[in-house]
Amino acid sequence: MLSDAELERRRGKPWTLRVASARDVTPNMRRIQLTASDLSEFRPRAAQEIVLQLPQADGEPARRHYTIRAFDPAAQLIDVDVVLHGDASPGVRWAREAKIGDVVEIRGPRGRMAVATDASWHLFTGDETALPAIYALVESLPASTEAFVFIEIGAESDKQPLETAATLHLTYLKRPGHPGPGRLMIDTVEKFTLPAGNGFAYILGETSNVRAQRQFLIERGLPRDRIYSEGYWRPGRIGGHDHVDDRSDAR
Ligand SMILES: Cc1cc2nc3c(=O)[nH]c(=O)nc-3n(C[C@H](O)[C@H](O)[C@H](O)COP(=O)(O)OP(=O)(O)OC[C@H]3O[C@@H](n4cnc5c(N)ncnc54)[C@H](O)[C@@H]3O)c2cc1C
Repeated sequence: MLSDAELERRRGKPWTLRVASARDVTPNMRRIQLTASDLSEFRPRAAQEIVLQLPQADGEPARRHYTIRAFDPAAQLIDVDVVLHGDASPGVRWAREAKIGDVVEIRGPRGRMAVATDASWHLFTGDETALPAIYALVESLPASTEAFVFIEIGAESDKQPLETAATLHLTYLKRPGHPGPGRLMIDTVEKFTLPAGNGFAYILGETSNVRAQRQFLIERGLPRDRIYSEGYWRPGRIGGHDHVDDRSDAR
């Protein structure tokens, strides 16, 4: 049983934030900048997340996870990039309608994912929902490392520039249809030759795709503790996330 303090640490600290700006980064991704009068205690690691509590008509807030794409402590600005995957869901509606001065309650920063500082190479895979996390991690890599990045996108216009001190191999995979379960990323990972040396894989995005890639990498010999994998969404799932790790391997 978790103590109250541990539960609070995992859920993240509560904050009341205001929208400072809202703009499209690409046609399918909207960047909302959030601020508060004092964020001196807000200290995220690269690619940690916040959970927005979005008020709904039925009274129960919708809780939605979004990656901290960037944090500027001097300007006190938290950037979140929201994939516009439809019109009706609470996260997308919030991003589309956000205007300067809107108030939003959040919890965070939270999340266990972090760069493996002992790795000489890193493999990142994910769809658009994982792009903010993957980009934040890759941007934080040192020059001595190599990053293999595979991003599934729906349109050419989803591509975004990525800069890093690491040696970067960036590949976009343009899927033929709608986002969701599919072979595109799984086939790509199955063709990927694991480099020599100490590596680490970050496998994110739609849950069934993440699970299949994780299983494959384990079969290929990558140790379980050298893979961070998390299901960011799946068809029919409302908010939350799916554990795709040793706990779920054991089931
Ligand atoms: C740790 C973490 C970090 C995340 N970071 C980001 C981020 O930075 N940016 C981001 O956009 N998302 C991110 N996500 C994913 C995001 O939380 C989910 O996509 C969430 O479901 C969006 O909420 P919603 O209100 O739009 O849709 P919901 O109300 O949750 O779902 C409505 C319907 O839409 C479907 N759906 C949800 N997401 C998608 C999608 N991408 N494409 C197609 N159908 C979808 C659901 O399966 C459901 O059927 C993250 C998730 C986690 C766990």
